[in-house]
Amino acid sequence: MRVLIAEDDGVSRLVLRKALEDLGYTVHAVKDGTGAWEAFQKESFPLVISDWMMPGMDGIELCRRIRSRSGRGYVYFILLTARDTREDRLHAIESGADDFLSKPLDRAELASRLSVARRILDMEQRLRQANEELARQKEELELKTQALEMSQEMIQQANLRFRELFDNVPVACFTFDAEGIIYEWNRAATNLYGWQEYEVLSQSMFHTIITPENEEAMRNIISQVMDGEKNITVEHVDRCRDGSRRHVLRALFPLHGASGEVVGGICASVDITQRVQYERELRALNERLESLAFTDALTGLYNHRALQDRLAESFNLARDGKGSFSFILLDIDHFKRFNDTYGHQAGDEVLRLVAQVLREHSPPDSVTARYGGEELAVLLPGFSLDEAIAVAEGLRCAIAEAKNPYRQITASFGVAEYKPYMHAPSEVVEVADAALYEAKRAGRNCVRPLPSEKQQEAA
Ligand code: GH3
Ligand code: MG
Ligand code: MG
Repeated sequence: MRVLIAEDDGVSRLVLRKALEDLGYTVHAVKDGTGAWEAFQKESFPLVISDWMMPGMDGIELCRRIRSRSGRGYVYFILLTARDTREDRLHAIESGADDFLSKPLDRAELASRLSVARRILDMEQRLRQANEELARQKEELELKTQALEMSQEMIQQANLRFRELFDNVPVACFTFDAEGIIYEWNRAATNLYGWQEYEVLSQSMFHTIITPENEEAMRNIISQVMDGEKNITVEHVDRCRDGSRRHVLRALFPLHGASGEVVGGICASVDITQRVQYERELRALNERLESLAFTDALTGLYNHRALQDRLAESFNLARDGKGSFSFILLDIDHFKRFNDTYGHQAGDEVLRLVAQVLREHSPPDSVTARYGGEELAVLLPGFSLDEAIAVAEGLRCAIAEAKNPYRQITASFGVAEYKPYMHAPSEVVEVADAALYEAKRAGRNCVRPLPSEKQQEAA
């Protein structure tokens, strides 16, 4: 430790220096207060031992100056004095002195005073370090507080931005937890469903938009979302505040907490009611178009093409041994004459009437069709020739008995049945056509099969 000594008396200065050096101190000795003050200003000493009475600046003044300077580290100030009155000492302590050494110097006293000085300086140094550490921690805390405030501000701004985005996005969105409780609800959701934010917040989605029919499906979806599944899309019908229903296309995503765990979900719903409506109309239109493609416009029966399809189906089944079928071809008698007498319009009317009779009097699983012109047909899956002849007979009577404003109408019937030697559906038709010819020849208004010996020939 370095010590500054101020002592005007040369011998005393020497004795003191020697004693201090013997105790292991590094000594800087000056001969008056002014010299001491100059030396002190150049470099700071932790320990100063100064004579009280010196020419120029005395020890008390030196002590006061040292005390008044601002700088780091405490300076332990010992006053050397022969003056020993109580007032002197009080005065010295008031000026900032820490201790006294009586003159003439006693080495043992010096050693003990110095050990006190060292203890105090040590303590002071520890205190200073503790203070510095405290100051450092305080500064660190302030920095942390600042950072915290900044991040809070950023979070606030991010929240604000999210809220703006959430509110202005043109898709109905709401957030929810595992139980289906709603936590956020945007403007588009209000527009779609009619509920205001305050009416749905903290409420279960199952008490508002989710219909009882969809509850189970939606609970399953929520549990998938809570398992972290992304991009779930589903079409649902939702309930609105006014009780009306809307078709929506929903997309659902999980929402994560600070440590990455799923805390809930977000649901975005697009109103597709209009689209669903269009799709329904389109489907109905398509169905109608399809039926038009298979229906004869005048009679409402199957048209020629549809009949060919159904005939081919029956033929293939029969060929595969999955059930036989019969076929009736009928032709209105003297229809040309009817047209000539009553006009084409009346002819059409009668054609429609005959078609109606066919529809009403044919067995349930049969196919009634307009074969072409005033020729109509009945396909009878599962019917034998005799059963088909009976059906034809029933139809013949019904046509002959049907009332119309003009005159009685009759028709002739040719009946055929599928035979295993036939190669194509057209062969059944040809046999029926030949049988029809037979019926015409026989005088009309009658039912004819082809005699069995002629059948194979006709086919
Ligand atoms: P048959 O007893 O020998 O069958 O005599 P028919 O006059 O009925 O025979 P034909 O085949 O010579 O004539 C069929 C007539 O059916 C000719 C045509 O004017 C009429 N016809 C065909 N299709 C229609 C139609 O869609 N509407 C009307 N009004 N007449 C039709
Ligand atoms: Mg004809
Ligand atoms: Mg005819």
